[in-house]
Amino acid sequence: MGIETRIVLGAIADDFTGATDLANNLVRGGMRCLQVIGVPSEAVNLQDIDAVVVALKSRSSPVDEAVADSLAALGWLRQQGARQLFFKYCSTFDSTNEGNIGPVADALLEALGDSQTVMVPAFPINGRTVYQGHLFVGDRLLNDSGMQHHPLTPMTDADLVRVLSRQTPHPVGLANRAVLIQGGDATRAHLSALGEQGVRHVICDSLDEQDLDVLAEATVLMPLVTGGSGLGQALPAQYRAQGWLDTISEPGRLSPPSGSALVLSGSCSRATLGQVADFLAKHPDGGFALDPLALAESEQQQQQALAFAQKRLSSNTPVLIYASADPEKVNAAQQALGVARAGALVEKALSQLAVTLVNEGVGRLLVAGGETSGAVVSSLGITSLRIGEQIDPGVPWTQAQLPGHEAPLSLALKSGNFGGVDFFTRAFEVLV
Ligand code: ADP
Repeated sequence: MGIETRIVLGAIADDFTGATDLANNLVRGGMRCLQVIGVPSEAVNLQDIDAVVVALKSRSSPVDEAVADSLAALGWLRQQGARQLFFKYCSTFDSTNEGNIGPVADALLEALGDSQTVMVPAFPINGRTVYQGHLFVGDRLLNDSGMQHHPLTPMTDADLVRVLSRQTPHPVGLANRAVLIQGGDATRAHLSALGEQGVRHVICDSLDEQDLDVLAEATVLMPLVTGGSGLGQALPAQYRAQGWLDTISEPGRLSPPSGSALVLSGSCSRATLGQVADFLAKHPDGGFALDPLALAESEQQQQQALAFAQKRLSSNTPVLIYASADPEKVNAAQQALGVARAGALVEKALSQLAVTLVNEGVGRLLVAGGETSGAVVSSLGITSLRIGEQIDPGVPWTQAQLPGHEAPLSLALKSGNFGGVDFFTRAFEVLV
């Protein structure tokens, strides 16, 4: 007889840091949450877990691949008994005319044998709102927010009904604010009226948390919902109202942290550069800068970085190893080595340092950079992360159990523009 593990929510996220962002909001809503990296190939212990987020890399992959990966994740989540499924994408609806939001949502609906889902990208607390189906970033329309210049998924149209209509052969509808202010029942009735007209995808307005609460109430019984991480914070209350979820007093409680603390930074985003400068102002001797040009020449710099970290860690003083540099320096390295090689050299060096130093006793590791985090996590052989308390919006502490290690590794994975200026020091102060 199989052991019944029944999770309440199973989510499929189209990228790694987006998965963590959703998981963080689910914890804040009151769910105990595990993030798995890719579709697990071995059994995962889901005891005391209410929600699982599968992190894929499907945002910019070819449509067929994104669909296949998402269906594999759906299959696995259904095996775990998920009551509701959530397809998570970016709050700026990152996609192209070909996909991947439309084709993935269509494939998931078809696999579930269902005929309708909602699209709720808004994350009002981060300035992402939707009005009359138009997505705003702060006070700018999406196509005037900087996202129109994104290298992979340029967003040149803020009208999401139109954007999604290019990605799916099915009719796309709208649930606007005038509907939402009438409450959950009226919104549900509007969705089913649209359903009777054959509308498969419904773009939903949301200006604030209250709108998200209404949408969560209206959609809690839908097999599949889709959206950004904002909706994730509103759903757990509805699961409790359905009697699916207990009130959990500390959903983000992790095992006590142990081991020494290390910061690795491969992010050159503006927020990270400020965090590096803040750390160095507080710990003038605490940082070691890596330079891709030197890394390309010999192994000497990486060995020096390792020796530097080992010395400081043995005296229990804070350590930051960083390749973060201003745009001019990054440009120079990219000109000399090529963009991909410069990035790969940094990611490899930071990953190898992480593996060695974790084996030597680092137990609290902060990594800055989305791609950098992905590289470090995969080098450490991590396949799942238990989600803990939030440090700053979108960035929680997490814990992973590494093979051969007794105590779990505490990990904070920060994508580029997240986190306050004192993030590299404060993160360790809130980890208790
Ligand atoms: P973010 O989340 O800020 O975008 P990422 O880690 O996703 O950060 O991306 C930063 C990329 O830049 C990584 O591939 C990293 O290896 C690369 N990189 C870091 N430092 C440098 C540098 N000094 N020169 C060139 N590339 C760099």
